[in-house]
Amino acid sequence: MGRVYNFSAGPAVLPEEVLREAADEMLDYNGSGMSVMEMSHRSRAFQEIIETAESDLRELMDIPANYKVLFLQGGASQQFAMIPMNLMKHGAADYIVTGQWAKKAAAEAKKYGTVNVIASSEDENFSYIPDCMDLPVSENADYVYICENNTIYGTKFKELPNTKGKTLVADVSSCFLSEPVDVKRYGVIYGGVQKNIGPAGVVIVIIREDLITDEVLPGTPTMLKYKTHMDARSLYNTPPAYGIYICGKVFKWLKKQGGLSAMKEYNEKKARLLYDYLDQSRLFKGTAAKKDRSLMNVPFVTGNDELDAEFVKEAKKAGFENLKGHRSVGGMRASIYNAMPAEGVEALAAFMRKFEEENV
Ligand SMILES: *Cc1c(COP(=O)(O)O)cnc(C)c1O
Repeated sequence: MGRVYNFSAGPAVLPEEVLREAADEMLDYNGSGMSVMEMSHRSRAFQEIIETAESDLRELMDIPANYKVLFLQGGASQQFAMIPMNLMKHGAADYIVTGQWAKKAAAEAKKYGTVNVIASSEDENFSYIPDCMDLPVSENADYVYICENNTIYGTKFKELPNTKGKTLVADVSSCFLSEPVDVKRYGVIYGGVQKNIGPAGVVIVIIREDLITDEVLPGTPTMLKYKTHMDARSLYNTPPAYGIYICGKVFKWLKKQGGLSAMKEYNEKKARLLYDYLDQSRLFKGTAAKKDRSLMNVPFVTGNDELDAEFVKEAKKAGFENLKGHRSVGGMRASIYNAMPAEGVEALAAFMRKFEEENV
């Protein structure tokens, strides 16, 4: 059987070229006679892999010199605790809650200090991004937290919130490297890589140097201090070496595609294919507010649960995998990350059109 069009929200589709290259190097990486999975993380070969990955990422995102890049483990969810443990110097933080992931992050942070939810879109099942231009940012907040792209609901901050001078912390798991970003506007940018970059098991944290100190909450484990990983250049203990190697290949692939501006253009083109269809469809309807629509995750429904289930089943038979929506939204969700080719999105739109004709 050939490859399917995989619309999974994560772990998700990777560039076929990267997978083929990794397959070619599986038994013998670059004349070493071993797989990257089998080599010492202290070896020269791996040293070069992690250093090249970092410098390519720095180039792609234009990361200023006073920001550190850390390759860590524990997924995005581990950061929900690591962020307050390392950054809550005054014991308080503001959270903007635009979905389940931000809500979970806020709940975790509450274990370590005062959490103020200064904006939320929970009143309408997180289907929009609240206006964040003049929020009641707390005087004593150590940071303002957002989830920039809401994987489950298909919404994205099109403008960063006005944090009134406070450090902005952003979970970018599902929009990482999907478009250019101005790193300087953030204190911390982090994400699990299994959505838009690589295999599960790696989380990348881009953090402004001055935010990394020894002054962390009492009891913070060594492994959960940013300083530990900064000082050891992400090699304090055995890192998720194979995952970092694949991320490095994806960075090279992104550079070859023309970098993040080119990706943005490509992602906009792909998203437009689906949204334009949805906006005139008599059967399907997008669930996110138009102004806040994500380029990466596109949730939609027919309004009839049985018909939704039928669509997912038929789509699977036709080679479109993982279209079932998250249980909290229902219906369908097409995740169309960087590595999803435009042909995949075109084919899906054509399939939906046909399904509509047969079912309206
Ligand atoms: C998937 C996801 C997470 C959780 O990631 P894990 O690596 O499984 O902990 C957190 N935030 C966002 C935005 C996500 O999409």
